[in-house]
Amino acid sequence: MSTNVEKLLVIQDRDRKIGRLAREINDLPKRRKMIESQLDAHKKALEEAEDAIRKKGLEQKELEALIEQRKERIQKLRQQQFEVKNNDDYRAFEHQIESINKEILEIEERELVLMEAVEAAKAVRDEKIEALKSEEKIVNEELARFKERAANVEKELIELETKRRALADDMDPEWLARYDRIFKHHGDFALVTVEHSTCGGCHMKLPPQLAHDARKLDSMTTCMYCGRLLYFIP
Ligand SMILES: [Zn+2]
Repeated sequence: MSTNVEKLLVIQDRDRKIGRLAREINDLPKRRKMIESQLDAHKKALEEAEDAIRKKGLEQKELEALIEQRKERIQKLRQQQFEVKNNDDYRAFEHQIESINKEILEIEERELVLMEAVEAAKAVRDEKIEALKSEEKIVNEELARFKERAANVEKELIELETKRRALADDMDPEWLARYDRIFKHHGDFALVTVEHSTCGGCHMKLPPQLAHDARKLDSMTTCMYCGRLLYFIP
């Protein structure tokens, strides 16, 4: 036959484990978010790289439109040139057309530089895709481990609670009620040892009479400072 203190020590051990698991379960959503947020920076970097390509693509279209406008102007000038009667007018048109052609060349050069920039931006984008992929691999592995742990924690908690109920059924109700109240209040220990006349919960020096009472088996003595149940290991 175990003493009440011995039985309560087993219950206390279960309760402490239950508390730890409950806290862990409470933290699960936060932990999951933290794991998933490891991808945020990589996703953002990829978006920025894609934005850069888009912007450069738009600039390229603008330059192409500028070239197109100039080509149309040249075509009109050619038609007008065709209708002139004297050489001076003809040369004037020729001169105008030449200078527009020069503009076209300049714009084409800008386009070339831009195309190189687009290629560079695409290379950066590809790097970001690879970086995201490898991070996703790490995160997915972490998530798999996380899910496994989450499932185990739930299972463990249910098992512990079942065991705890069986232990509680075997307890003296008065002792159990007392213990439950104190454990709930302190959240860490309800039952503590007395060592060198000191309470193992709040570490206050106990009066000699109290320390003496705590030595008696199942005496239900409580610390006058913190209210925890005291027991003594000979
Ligand atoms: Zn105390």
